[in-house]
Amino acid sequence: MSAPSHRNALTVDVEDYFQVSAFAPYIARSEWPSHECRVERNVDRILEMFDEHTTKATFFTLGWIAERYPALIRRIAAAGHEIASHGYGHQRVSEQTPESFFADINVAKLLLEDLAGCEVRGYRAPSFSIGENNLWAFECLERAGYRYSSSVYPIHHDHYGMPDAPRHAHRVGQGQLIEIPPTTLRAFNRNWPASGGGYFRLLPYPLSRWMIRRINTVDRLVAVFYFHPWEIDADQPRIPGINAKTRFRHYVNIDSMEQRLCRLLADFSWGRMDDLFLGNA
Ligand SMILES: [Zn+2]
Repeated sequence: MSAPSHRNALTVDVEDYFQVSAFAPYIARSEWPSHECRVERNVDRILEMFDEHTTKATFFTLGWIAERYPALIRRIAAAGHEIASHGYGHQRVSEQTPESFFADINVAKLLLEDLAGCEVRGYRAPSFSIGENNLWAFECLERAGYRYSSSVYPIHHDHYGMPDAPRHAHRVGQGQLIEIPPTTLRAFNRNWPASGGGYFRLLPYPLSRWMIRRINTVDRLVAVFYFHPWEIDADQPRIPGINAKTRFRHYVNIDSMEQRLCRLLADFSWGRMDDLFLGNA
C-alpha cells in the first residue's frame, strides 16, 4: 500500500523503567537514584530511529529526568522535536491535591523551558490520570500556561480512563486549554485503546495498523500514538517480586518493540502534537 496522506501525532513519554506507575508499590520514590538509569541510551536510539525515518515527534518529559540529563533534553530539541511536559515526579494526578499538582506541573514547565529554549505548551498526566474526579486539573494547567493536555484516555481500564470522554480534541477548563486524547477505536458500542503502550506490544502489528488506518479514513481523526523509551530496552534490569499482571504488561513482547516501531514509522506519516493540533498559534 502506498504511503497515506494523513499525518498522525507521535509521542514519547520520557521516563525510566523504574518510574512507571505500576512499579510504584515496589519501588519507593526515594529509591529512584539507586537504580541504573537507561533513559539516555534509549532516547538516543529513538532519536536515531526518528532521524532514519525523517520523523518529528513530541517528547512528554519528566522534570526529574530533565534535571539529571539536561544535555539529553537539548539534543531532543536540537533535532527538531517538541519538548512537552510529563510533570516533575510522575505522581498520578488522582493522588494529588490541586496545590501539589500545580507545583509539580509548574516546576516541570520552567525546567524544560530553560533547557529547550522555547515555550513548553503540552502536558501529559502520568498514567492518563485525569478523569471525572479531578477535572480541576485542567484549570491548574491553564494557570501554569499550558496550551494543551493529552491526559484523558476515553476507555475502561483498571487504573485510569474516562469512558464517556470525547474521542477527539476538545476545549476544557475555562476554554484556554485543549484536551487531545490518546486514540481509541469505536466498535461494539465501546472505545478500544488504539494508541500504543502495552496494547501495541500485545496485539499483532497488522491489527494496530488496521485500527489507525480506520481512525484516519473512517473517523477522519488524527491518531495520537505513544510509547516509552524503556519499551525498546529488552535488556533493562528486571524488577523482582512484582505480580504476574504487572510483569506481563511491562515486559510483553519488549524484544520485538523496536522492529514494530520501525514498521509503524514506515507505514504512516508522523508529526509533533503542536504542529498538528495548535498550528502556528
Ligand atoms: Zn509516564
